[in-house]
Amino acid sequence: MCGIVAAASQTNIVSILADGLKHLEYRGYDSSGIALIQNKNISSYKKEGNVSELTQSLDKKLSANIGIAHTRWATHGKPSKENAHPHISDDNIAIVHNGIIENYLEIKNKFFKDVVFASETDSEILAHLINFYTKENEIFEAVYLTLKEVKGSYAIAVLDKKNSDKIIVARNGSPLLIGLGEKTNFVASDAQALIEHTNKFVYLEDGDLATVTAEEVKIYNKDKQSIRRETKKSKLSLNSNSKNG
Ligand code: GLU
Repeated sequence: MCGIVAAASQTNIVSILADGLKHLEYRGYDSSGIALIQNKNISSYKKEGNVSELTQSLDKKLSANIGIAHTRWATHGKPSKENAHPHISDDNIAIVHNGIIENYLEIKNKFFKDVVFASETDSEILAHLINFYTKENEIFEAVYLTLKEVKGSYAIAVLDKKNSDKIIVARNGSPLLIGLGEKTNFVASDAQALIEHTNKFVYLEDGDLATVTAEEVKIYNKDKQSIRRETKKSKLSLNSNSKNG
């Protein structure tokens, strides 16, 4: 299980994602990727190998106010660019996922029997099922309905191009936290990814879902009831973890 970092802001978040991925490297990984919403369209960038290969390949002028990023440790499908996250469905939905979707083949046979997927991962099913449910539901409900189908462990962050100010996140059995900033809010699987930007964290619990915009964080329990989770101040400092540590 590897790393997630995401941010929604009134300013450019590309360097926040790139730096966050570097701070997640110590966990080990085989590939990495970023998805952004720019001009109401989803763009994605993925590389096998070191995070620096990905970050150095990005255009220096790349700019977006919202994005999700991932370091992958393959559980289903070989390490490769195709299997790296984010996974995209119909250019509408992008997801990053830590964990394992145990019943992904059952879901594929139920909803997408004859569809050829772009990757060999268990995770890609999440993008397609969320996209499927958005045909008749708004995005939060689509994520909720998707997760009701899923057995396994997950921390996820989701972008929907029709909701270009919002990241939808959820966790079950895989860590995920929200970092609170000024006109910027963050998501990560590990506080170390965000320590340059904030020391205020809200740790999600199993079953929680949340919506994160630049201005606002809303958290819900597994029954979609709005809930509060305590904000904790972290004493972590930069590089208190290292790749060799
Ligand atoms: N099971 C997913 C995959 O193989 C996610 C692995 C991870 O947590 O990085 O792509």
